[in-house]
Amino acid sequence: MSTTDYLCTYCRSHLLVGGNIIVGAKGPKGKMGIILLHPELGNYDIVTHPEFNIEEGESYSFYCPVCHSKLNDKEKDELAKLYMVENGDEYEFYFSRLAGEKASFKVKDKEVEEDAGFHKDRYARYFDLPKEYKKYL
Ligand SMILES: [Zn+2]
Repeated sequence: MSTTDYLCTYCRSHLLVGGNIIVGAKGPKGKMGIILLHPELGNYDIVTHPEFNIEEGESYSFYCPVCHSKLNDKEKDELAKLYMVENGDEYEFYFSRLAGEKASFKVKDKEVEEDAGFHKDRYARYFDLPKEYKKYL
């Protein structure tokens, strides 16, 4: 039994309900709907209502379904951010806002603890270099 939880970064409501992370999303032309995200880092399966078609390559904004805050990260604009709590430790969890793009990051104290996805290198600039490189800077 996993003890992973996902929280809104504003109201800290629990967004992992019934086995999926539940977020609101707004896509091209303002089309809105609910997206269920898979809680496993690196699993990009999503569930939506059949009438809410996700358009590949389009940028979506994500919202907390409880307090309606925008979950897009303010500094890393192409990414959305949630808090992830795993066995009592809290992380920042980032994922790409582009539909179909596979990139996710689990970050603690600005260090990437875990990342996944074919497109993750596109966002490498947002995160600190691994510790072993820092001594050369
Ligand atoms: Zn919230």
